[in-house]
Amino acid sequence: MSPAVFEPLAETPDLAAIRDGVRAICDDFDDGYWAEKDRTASFPDEFARAIAAGGWLGIAMPTAYGGAGLGVTEAAVMMQTIGGSAGTFAAFSTVHINIFGPHAIVVHGTEAQRARMLPPLIRGETRACFGVTEPDAGLDTTKIKTRAVRDGDHYIVTGNKIWTSTAQRADKIVLLARTTPIEACAKPTDGLSLFYTDLDRRYVEIREIHKMGRAAVDSNALFFDGLPIPIEDRIGEEGRGFRYILDSLNPERILNAAEAIGIGRRALAKAAAYAKERIVFDRPIGQNQSIQHPLAESWAELYAAELMTLRAARLYDSGAPCGLEANAAKYLAADAAFQACDRAVRTHGGMGYASEYHVERYFRESVVTRLAPVSRELILCYLAERALGLPNSY
Ligand SMILES: Cc1cc2nc3c(=O)[nH]c(=O)nc-3n(C[C@H](O)[C@H](O)[C@H](O)COP(=O)(O)OP(=O)(O)OC[C@H]3O[C@@H](n4cnc5c(N)ncnc54)[C@H](O)[C@@H]3O)c2cc1C
Repeated sequence: MSPAVFEPLAETPDLAAIRDGVRAICDDFDDGYWAEKDRTASFPDEFARAIAAGGWLGIAMPTAYGGAGLGVTEAAVMMQTIGGSAGTFAAFSTVHINIFGPHAIVVHGTEAQRARMLPPLIRGETRACFGVTEPDAGLDTTKIKTRAVRDGDHYIVTGNKIWTSTAQRADKIVLLARTTPIEACAKPTDGLSLFYTDLDRRYVEIREIHKMGRAAVDSNALFFDGLPIPIEDRIGEEGRGFRYILDSLNPERILNAAEAIGIGRRALAKAAAYAKERIVFDRPIGQNQSIQHPLAESWAELYAAELMTLRAARLYDSGAPCGLEANAAKYLAADAAFQACDRAVRTHGGMGYASEYHVERYFRESVVTRLAPVSRELILCYLAERALGLPNSY
């Protein structure tokens, strides 16, 4: 079987060079490395440093600040390659925030902010986390309660965030907070502001959340108690933060999709290899159609999701609307990845449950692709409304 079956579809020599360059780094971090990180819940510093040293963190950042100035298509090939590495979700989570998390700074920041904020992120010297989700708002982001109250040349922040990835390591945070009470706004989407600022532990308590998978990369509850933010750290206009976040949603969905496809492909490759080797009833288990068909289905599902992802990426890079395609890609890819991982576990029989074969780790990591950063249900709500013209349901 051609190894290309399991690799990102890199349609041009430039995309293939990205895939191969990223793959060369990922190959130094094998299943043993990631299983140990998972078992000990320790951050993959070595991997993060290697990706930064290769200059990959700035793939989609402007060249003026040290980035490569490439598009989401190139970033998707990079992230699919990382997702398909032995680290799967944990691996791409160590770098994901750097790729489009600072997009609002690029688009809405001042020249001085871009020059101050972007180069350290691109060089991997600064680690940022992304603080949007709150315990009492969930997917209904406009209902967040964290307040940033203007006090002279500062804002003072109080409130809670939840699920903030990598906050244990981060020195900066992209923070969405309410600057005008929702009751005083014409629309719920008004009155939210975006900041990129120091995650100053004197004012922020960070508590790790223990979770099912991706143990190597921390998730956290954050408690803000009077964090002062200088006004120079507000991105764009006060009150327009929700719109700025929306700008980066489509590229993020595209990267989420690519990453999920990577996980699914890796699990599928392991399953196919095991199905060829494992002899039961005097023949390889892969000779049974009940083993073959689910794996063949996963191959088709992952390929279809990849084509939708590439279509969304091309649309985004050409400046065309891509909300439907980006959301559909995320939905299809997450479901295909989850299915492939589930099938990989079952193909391995009892050994699918053993850490030794790693597919149980991929399975645990694949679960979250359907939950975050947007759930499959909310994507279907969006598609029903925007593609089919049905009434808004959320
Ligand atoms: C590992 C991990 C890492 C994360 N990292 C970050 C991060 O770095 N920064 C950050 O800000 N957030 C992060 N998140 C949070 C993530 O984005 C949220 O968990 C996600 O947006 C879902 O929100 P919720 O958990 O509050 O679900 P809820 O909003 O409580 O939804 C619960 C369920 O109800 C369904 N539902 C809700 N409303 C509707 C409706 N109207 N119609 C149909 N179904 C509905 C949802 O689809 C879901 O199935 C992370 C989450 C995880 C698990």
